[in-house]
Amino acid sequence: MVSRRSPKLPRVAKDVDRDLYAGLIRLHVLHHAGEKPIYGAWIIEELNRHGYSLSAGTLYPLLHGLEKKGYLRSRQVRAGKLGRRIYEITAKGRKVFAAAREKVRELFGELFEGEL
Ligand SMILES: [Zn+2]
Repeated sequence: MVSRRSPKLPRVAKDVDRDLYAGLIRLHVLHHAGEKPIYGAWIIEELNRHGYSLSAGTLYPLLHGLEKKGYLRSRQVRAGKLGRRIYEITAKGRKVFAAAREKVRELFGELFEGEL
């Protein structure tokens, strides 16, 4: 994904406000994992485009947690000389994401009430 970050997006400093943004980041990951298989470096770049600076040390435990909950599944694939872990959404992940998406719609409506 090439840099086309909106200049209006505020920058979230590296790994700060973790609690506040943790859910948003997880939803973002589930959203993309639902579209196509994704991998760590891609997610870091994609989140960066959206104004989040995440280190691998923060992202991988997060992915691990989503996998442990059964929302994602991963497998190791070969990528040139190196291996790469690919993440895909599961049926359970799709289900919880669909419900969370409706909550986001609801919140979005309230946050931007009168602005749209
Ligand atoms: Zn995105």
